[in-house]
Amino acid sequence: MYSAVTLFSHLTGIFLAIVFAIVVGDVTGDYVLSLLIAVVILLAYHYWKMYRFNKWLWNNKLLTPPQVLGSWERLYQGVHQLQKKHRRKRQELSAVIRQFRMGVEALPDSVVLLDRHSHIIWCNRLARIELGIKWPEDYGLRIDSLIRNPSFVSYYNKGDFKYPIELTSPVNKDKKNEYRIISYSEDFQLIISRDVSHVSQLEGMRKDFVANVSHEMRTPLTVITGYIEMLPETKMGKDPFAVKALHEMSSQTKRMQNLIEDLLVLSKIESSSERIFDTVLDMQAMFLQIEKEAQRLNQDKNHHISFIIEKGLNVYGVESELRSACSNLVFNAIKYTPDEGRIQVVWYKENNQAVFKVIDNGDGIPARHLSRLTERFYRVDKARARSSGGSGLGLSIVKHVLYRHNSQLHIKSRIGQGSEFYFKLPSDLLEK
Ligand code: ADP
Repeated sequence: MYSAVTLFSHLTGIFLAIVFAIVVGDVTGDYVLSLLIAVVILLAYHYWKMYRFNKWLWNNKLLTPPQVLGSWERLYQGVHQLQKKHRRKRQELSAVIRQFRMGVEALPDSVVLLDRHSHIIWCNRLARIELGIKWPEDYGLRIDSLIRNPSFVSYYNKGDFKYPIELTSPVNKDKKNEYRIISYSEDFQLIISRDVSHVSQLEGMRKDFVANVSHEMRTPLTVITGYIEMLPETKMGKDPFAVKALHEMSSQTKRMQNLIEDLLVLSKIESSSERIFDTVLDMQAMFLQIEKEAQRLNQDKNHHISFIIEKGLNVYGVESELRSACSNLVFNAIKYTPDEGRIQVVWYKENNQAVFKVIDNGDGIPARHLSRLTERFYRVDKARARSSGGSGLGLSIVKHVLYRHNSQLHIKSRIGQGSEFYFKLPSDLLEK
């Protein structure tokens, strides 16, 4: 164990130089000259030691310090101790990094680390295989110059990583990857990509199955409806029991038809690849059409319906989808508001967003149901919803359409006062 340099050991050299100057001064009789010689010798000694110290520190491969005497020995040992400490710390740190890398390598996902300029600074082995990153050649390249899929590029540049994105693999077009981007400090991002081909295949099969079954059920239902419509004209149809049965059959087949139509609409939206930024929609014409249909539906209910539509407020989108979403909200208000109610439909611009609102003064919906209303087949009052001929899919359709248009459905409702269903389309969907 070495102790720090003491003041005494430091002064030994000066003390010896003074003794030397006195002795030589006594002999020569010139104390000034002998003191000068002593100082020069002392300085030369220390400069020589400093030169050797520098050489050892920067050029010498030897880790152990050379044998030296006096205060320089302590300096050598002190630096040596520090070096040993740093070396140990470095080894510990390398072990931690090695373990971390082994952990990340063992992950079943591809992992890519990016710096603040989106440059790749590290990736695991799976990322090299699944994303086609060449290592170390691709070090420092921008991620969007490697994963060039336009959907990935626009998702990445948008910077909203709340939801993952599913895309075809850059190395195998039969595979699907799900990308998740996590910013873990101001300067770094982590991309985690997972092979979801299997899940995506199952999801595709589910959608196909629903679409096929719905489609196949259409024809037999049309035949049944045809007979139900013809039977009242026949002798058999005049029987009081048959009249009642035919009435019930007619309303049930209507319900089934609605259900099938809605299922088909939902599966069409789910598997749609139509791009929302391709077409600008004439919203005024669309609302005029919805208003006509609403008035037709309103014949029995006799509500007061008003449409307040801002002129020229057009948006990018898929017409069939937005029409379906808006009309579902309007028709629901008509269906679920007690007769002679007030329904207001508004479309206007606010904070550079397009807002669509349907406000009714119906019975309102208990708060506990609000978060679940957009689930498939979820109804507040099952019996009433069935008698209204609803499929239970209307708000699911609205939710899907809005999700595809980068928006979401909001619902406010007060028991006894009415409900407000609204959504806002983001500014980048507004016609420029
Ligand atoms: P449905 O086909 O049954 O109308 P929806 O998904 O369109 O299915 O609606 C789900 C449920 O939300 C409805 O069954 C109804 O209970 C409730 N609901 C929807 N709109 C309104 C509204 N304007 N007022 C009151 N309840 C509503």
